[in-house]
Amino acid sequence: MYFQDGIEYSYNLSFTLNNVICIGWLSKDYSFNRGEVSTNVKDKLLKTIQLKSCNKMRGVHKCEFCNSEIQIALNEKRQILGHAEIWIPSGHKNIIYASPTLIYHYIDKYNYLPPNDFIESLMEFDINSDWNGDDIILDLVKSVQSVSPAS
Ligand SMILES: [Zn+2]
Repeated sequence: MYFQDGIEYSYNLSFTLNNVICIGWLSKDYSFNRGEVSTNVKDKLLKTIQLKSCNKMRGVHKCEFCNSEIQIALNEKRQILGHAEIWIPSGHKNIIYASPTLIYHYIDKYNYLPPNDFIESLMEFDINSDWNGDDIILDLVKSVQSVSPAS
């Protein structure tokens, strides 16, 4: 599923969520920013995926670029990518970043370079906090539906 970086989140929804911003929903049909991402950032991303994945779905999205299901080793555990998301609060703006877990693979293998504020927010994100992406999603969806009930 492709969403341009910076666009408001609407995946599997009939509406968009204001202030939830898509990052890293790449497709081979669209170009993307490339650049160096430090090991620190990649490590933090992996830990975040391991501890804070949300919006898990049935089935696994393959990586479009190598047409494979992606598994990575993390602390001797296998981590499947492509069947969940991570939602991270921006450290500087009143927004939340929503990314597919495949974002790790995109960075690691294809040198995808996410926007700077995403990287800074990821590094500032406290993975030991009680932040729960699934609760956030539920609350946001409910708040939209209470304003504009489905017709
Ligand atoms: Zn790939």
